[in-house]
Amino acid sequence: MTTAEAHGTPHPDSTTRHHVSLAETATAHNYSPLPVVLASGQGAWVTDVEGRRYLDCLAGYSALNFGHAHPRLTAAAQEQLARLTLTSRAFHNDRLGPFCRDLADLAGMDLVLPMNTGAEAVETAIKVARKWGADRKGVAPDRADIIVADGNFHGRTTTIVSFSTDPVARDGFGPFTPGFRSVPYGDSAALEAAVDENTVAVLLEPVQGEAGVVIPPPGYLQAVREVCSRKNVLFLADEIQSGLGRTGTTFACDAEGVTPDVYILGKALGGGIVPVSAVVSRHDVLGVIRPGSHGSTFGGNPLAAAVGHAVVELLRSGEYQARAAALGERLRGRLEDLTGRGVVAVRSRGLWAGIDLDPALTTGRQACLRLLDRGVLAKDTHGSTLRLAPPLVIEPGQLDWMCDQLGEVLARAGT
Ligand SMILES: *Cc1c(COP(=O)(O)O)cnc(C)c1O
Repeated sequence: MTTAEAHGTPHPDSTTRHHVSLAETATAHNYSPLPVVLASGQGAWVTDVEGRRYLDCLAGYSALNFGHAHPRLTAAAQEQLARLTLTSRAFHNDRLGPFCRDLADLAGMDLVLPMNTGAEAVETAIKVARKWGADRKGVAPDRADIIVADGNFHGRTTTIVSFSTDPVARDGFGPFTPGFRSVPYGDSAALEAAVDENTVAVLLEPVQGEAGVVIPPPGYLQAVREVCSRKNVLFLADEIQSGLGRTGTTFACDAEGVTPDVYILGKALGGGIVPVSAVVSRHDVLGVIRPGSHGSTFGGNPLAAAVGHAVVELLRSGEYQARAAALGERLRGRLEDLTGRGVVAVRSRGLWAGIDLDPALTTGRQACLRLLDRGVLAKDTHGSTLRLAPPLVIEPGQLDWMCDQLGEVLARAGT
């Protein structure tokens, strides 16, 4: 018991410390969370167990593109919760068809294969590409090859970590799944050189999120599209984090007017409420999947479909994409002002920014702790990079306030 508690005045952080210590004893240490315990959220704001408010500038790694408790999304979930939540795909439900039709329409595609988590959707796309290679391209059994990019992040399953280039994600988790080759990100010549007769697909993030919001050189996505078309290889775009409005367009591929063969979606598709992911493509690609060859107990459940459908409805107006584009310009301007004042480099697209901090001044983690003290939640990556991805519902004044806090943290860094 602390002195404060002995005197009958609880230490202001006792509730936080209780929850943190409980989590540390009962939860596997697969994350190192910041020392804040959140209890509620509304829009761009969250409140901790002590009643302090924070601007959520991570937004669940873009799973919360529409903010916390968006009224249209919670209404869709609540209405469906009271009606029907799970049927399994052994039967039809009245939510799945409309959701898939409208999602396919939003993507300019024909078919949707619904799953739950992002990693599952990536696994699904890999299976679809291999099956397409076997059935449509005539690739010999067990020879199919998929080209990926260095620095990729596509999830955490055993197959997906097999082609990660991050030692922390891989080491100790072998044996690894064969059939992947990694080439430098942003280098279309290296990619083309890696394609051979057994190549069935290229799997890429149009902007590499976990790598630190790495934006490929202009023309890269178009060049990848051109190589894939010419060599009869599927272009699988992992838009799990970059898609659904984050970058100022519906998909990050839209920035170069590129349509991949397959969109892999997740995160924001579940409205921050339930895990919803999907593989979205054309008849000639997704048509290779037949009954029994792939599935998921929860994939396409009525609750997920109702929420996913409400997300698609929000995106159909283009309002959120336009917001992300306009506010993204504002964010970029504010961050560029900090260049040379603790910021070494800024990469941003829409409301998504990777900020390389001067490692001599502060670590990313230290900056995040200082931002936390000032009421801003953000996440570091790769030592000295800060990642910002506020909900698309953030107000211009709040965005300015966030940038002010970052400026203050950097001005006082090292003190
Ligand atoms: C988050 C993410 C995934 C994995 O999604 P989970 O839902 O965590 O499995 C895959 N690809 C990209 C680009 C991501 O950002």
